[in-house]
Amino acid sequence: MHGAAAGHGSGTAVLPGAELLEDLLAGTPDEEHPVTHVHHLPVRTSRTLPWPAWVDPALRARLEAQGVREPWRHQVEAAQLAHDGTSVVVATGTASGKSLAYQLPALTRLAEDQRACVLYLAPTKALARDQLASVAALADPSVRPAAYDGDTPAEERDWVRRHSRWIVTNPDMLHRGVLPAHQRWSSTLRRLAYVVIDECHAYRGVFGSHVGHVLRRLRRICRRYGADPVFVLASATVAEPAAAATRLVGGPVVAVTDDGSPRPGATFALWEPPLTERTGEHGAPLRRSAAADAAGLLADLVERGARTLAFVRSRRSAESVAEQTRRLLQDRGRGDLVRQVDSYRGGYLPEERRELERALSSGELLGVATTNALELGIDIAGLDAVVLAGYPGTLASLWQQAGRAGRAQRESLVVFVARDDPLDHYLAHHPRAVFGRPVEATVTDPANPYVLGPQLCCAAAELPLTPDDLPDFGGPVAEARLEELVAAGQLRRRPAGWYWAGRGRPDVDIRGGGGEPVAIIEAGTGRLLGTVDGGAAHSTVHTGALYVHRGETFVVDEFDLDDACAVVHADSPEWTTVARDVTDLGIVRTDRTRRLGTVTAHTGVVDVTNQVVAYQRRRTGTGEVLAEFPLDLPARQLRTRAVWLTLDADAVARADVDDLALPGSLHAAEHAAIGILPLLATCDRWDLGGLSTALHPDTGTATVFVYDGHPGGAGFAERGFAALRRWLRATRATVASCECESGCPSCVQSPKCGNGNDPLDKAGAVRVLDVVLDELAAADDSGDGDAEDGGDGGEEAPATVPAGPARGLLRRPGTARVPARPVVDDPDGAAEAGAVDDGPGPGGGHAEDGLVF
Ligand SMILES: [Zn+2]
Ligand SMILES: [Zn+2]
Repeated sequence: MHGAAAGHGSGTAVLPGAELLEDLLAGTPDEEHPVTHVHHLPVRTSRTLPWPAWVDPALRARLEAQGVREPWRHQVEAAQLAHDGTSVVVATGTASGKSLAYQLPALTRLAEDQRACVLYLAPTKALARDQLASVAALADPSVRPAAYDGDTPAEERDWVRRHSRWIVTNPDMLHRGVLPAHQRWSSTLRRLAYVVIDECHAYRGVFGSHVGHVLRRLRRICRRYGADPVFVLASATVAEPAAAATRLVGGPVVAVTDDGSPRPGATFALWEPPLTERTGEHGAPLRRSAAADAAGLLADLVERGARTLAFVRSRRSAESVAEQTRRLLQDRGRGDLVRQVDSYRGGYLPEERRELERALSSGELLGVATTNALELGIDIAGLDAVVLAGYPGTLASLWQQAGRAGRAQRESLVVFVARDDPLDHYLAHHPRAVFGRPVEATVTDPANPYVLGPQLCCAAAELPLTPDDLPDFGGPVAEARLEELVAAGQLRRRPAGWYWAGRGRPDVDIRGGGGEPVAIIEAGTGRLLGTVDGGAAHSTVHTGALYVHRGETFVVDEFDLDDACAVVHADSPEWTTVARDVTDLGIVRTDRTRRLGTVTAHTGVVDVTNQVVAYQRRRTGTGEVLAEFPLDLPARQLRTRAVWLTLDADAVARADVDDLALPGSLHAAEHAAIGILPLLATCDRWDLGGLSTALHPDTGTATVFVYDGHPGGAGFAERGFAALRRWLRATRATVASCECESGCPSCVQSPKCGNGNDPLDKAGAVRVLDVVLDELAAADDSGDGDAEDGGDGGEEAPATVPAGPARGLLRRPGTARVPARPVVDDPDGAAEAGAVDDGPGPGGGHAEDGLVF
């Protein structure tokens, strides 16, 4: 933080959002117009309900003293359900006071029953600490809320177990600390009334599947002690919250989604930087970077006195955007404002965030570039604008970030700046996907054998498993898995049930995607920086790789396979690296098939064999290939789940692609489909892999595969199969609407293509997708096939969301190509080489893309 003296008086009049946007765009030449859509978010007035009669009077008095006159509608609805003993998920927007929904019933119960306990689970420590403070301010002193996590000193743990009635912890601690020692925790578990699971959309993919089993184990142990706690989950707005929550906890959960909280108005602009004359791989045109436009916007907004947060994807990018902003201000003769611009480099401690809130509120700071570290648990009243440089990965995050803007009196401005990437490009042109009903679902797959097996071992080690327990763990699937575990000597079958037969306790890493984790060690200091998932290691930390860890860049000196470690040194070269690989894929089992005339869709189990054979150094920003180096790494096998499409000869003929064009057409469709799937499932493209071929030996025909990059699958491919039409329509729209000629990073090029994005046929991909979509439409019209959730979502229909007052500011149709500007370093490009791990989710998985002819 710059300790700048306050320079900005709070009296400065900042324009309301719509006028602010108009002012920013004034004088922009037509061909450079970046705004693709303007959406007006109207003021939402609050809807309240009277306090339920059962609420503890002391609690109500404390809340009223804090300014809560009457609770909002959704808070009462959810609280009432929980009070009546029904598990509930409250899925409403950012800052809609979801905490009150569980605090009302849970704290009332603790006041009425001096022995009752509550377990609160949070995905991040920052959120846990915030909630702890909030509960401490509301609860009766006898509740003694306390944290029980990795930071709790050993001498305090005993005290927490004996005395706290509101225990704040996380799924990792539940899995490793509480459940295996359930006898010691028996007095807490016996009296457990509520389990609160906050930000439950964070539990997704393989990690979410593990957490699902940890919760099933918790329920089983509680039953053993005679307790049957009510679950209250809180989540950002996502599709199908009830189904996702039910799958997560393994029991019925009801959703409350009607948000009764007030919201200030905002003007929300979708912004796509124009194409430039700069070129990247295979001469593809490149857009001006999202980081460059974010810096420009930040400077413009700061100049107009608007308090602004700019969200970027990595720490390095946060620093670079702040630096660019200061330089722009300096160049415009506004050196006086330079000290009011800064970057926020993490700092998860509440004090650090409070300091930032204070500096922004007082006007000491006007513009801050930050990673998603500030997405949760920050309370800044009166931000005038938020800039999002790049899609943050999920709609939940997008709304968390956008929700930081808003003042009671004046509407604010939110600008989403698209990156050069298919999903960002799609969103910039399909406002319904952003402002309509959410289509993105939180997926987990508790039946994944790589998750189920280890979790059954954990459960058996806690208490022998009996046939009565099995329905909770998947019924027949669990039974089959148990037999395998018995055959492998890990469990023993006795008349009374299944017993853990191993030594000690099962060692199960619930955050590991698969394979032995590889340690990242800094040369010279020997400091352990972190670990990467074994599955991802070959492509991310091979010798010579540029590796990004928490926004810092390192170059790998040596990747030691035997010791499972990578020795790195800190460095910021002007290049990034991309692994080249060879992939082979065999179908193990087809589980479901949908015949669609000349096209068939399948889902099932596949074996993917992948070998990283070389890597390329590419210039940061442009992607220009500077050099290629061979690598000597063994091939590895991944058994996972996939969705695949086969096209027979008629379909190929209808698509009008000849033998020469077919591989590139399928490959381009595969890239775009992988880039778009995160629209429908909470994953990112690094969680997925793909392979396309004109003739696959197992199908005997042209085939496109998309698979989960995690052993056993994570539910992503299955989500693609279930929402096939919606997925492919969005894919087709992305490719067709891109104004490039023959493919670029916004449509069919992939930053992680193992084949160097060759061959790619953009026009052929559109025709192939058209044929598949025709067949899907025919099948759906004849009532054949699965009902897709929500049916005809129609993202491709012309947007009916009303454009805001700035309609005249929209980009004119037609190809815009603007003169090259000074190239602004876009470190997010470098961040693509590794997982950007500021978020609470699991690390990046093994994600490959291959092509076989
Ligand atoms: Zn393109
Ligand atoms: Zn590829």
